[in-house]
Amino acid sequence: MRRLLIVGNWKMHLNASQASLLLHRLQENIKIYRDIEVVLAPSMLVLQPLSVQIDRRKFRLAAQNAYFKDEGAFTGEVSFTMLRDLAHYVIVGHSERRHILNEDLPMIRDKVAASFRNGITPILCVGETKQERDDGETKQVLHDQLMTALSNLTAEEVGEMVIAYEPVWAIGTGDIAKPDQAEDAVTYIRNYVKDVFGNKAAKTTRILYGGSVVPDVTFGFLDIPGIDGFLVGGASLNYHSFSEIVLAAHRWQREQEDEA
Ligand code: PEP
Repeated sequence: MRRLLIVGNWKMHLNASQASLLLHRLQENIKIYRDIEVVLAPSMLVLQPLSVQIDRRKFRLAAQNAYFKDEGAFTGEVSFTMLRDLAHYVIVGHSERRHILNEDLPMIRDKVAASFRNGITPILCVGETKQERDDGETKQVLHDQLMTALSNLTAEEVGEMVIAYEPVWAIGTGDIAKPDQAEDAVTYIRNYVKDVFGNKAAKTTRILYGGSVVPDVTFGFLDIPGIDGFLVGGASLNYHSFSEIVLAAHRWQREQEDEA
């Protein structure tokens, strides 16, 4: 059985006490599931206190970003090196960072490399804007983002990483991708990995869908071939909806087992 991965991106929300309360509620609601890996990505500020509070049998932590240099005169930044032992994953290249914070392709490539250099698994986000989709450029955009971000990696590293397909137009809009759009993009990503890094890497790379995921769509989206889980933004800020997503994914896994 393939373990599913569900990541909650809390974005720039929740101060320390709010984050602690949300974690407390999630820990009450979410059981230990061996078939689901649940990851929480709070703000940088609360990673440390949450790392003390967290039940490691249920959750892992991710940072939402980090800087690609390990140390130095980079005021305001936090490095991957500083996140060792604190975060299991780091989200790299989220569309909000690409589009609002102007992170370009080489910077994202350097962040992916820094992540591996420091023993942290990157969750690389890729995806097209509405304009790019309308212009028929989705695959070209995915190609360029993947080619740059993965360019310095070994097949083994690519096989260990997580890639999240997040169409920009679906993030925080309620405009979730249609199943065939998600399937096309996820298939394209896996084929890219297969062509460049080989079969073994393509089999083990985990590919997530992200963009307005809510509990109701979870079950159906897991039927899409090649989707290994979700990157959830808005719905991860509510303990009820995030717990429902995790529970739906667990039910889906049990159904697959029963059918096997
Ligand atoms: C995200 O933050 O990556 C995301 C997909 O957000 P939302 O689920 O709110 O669309």
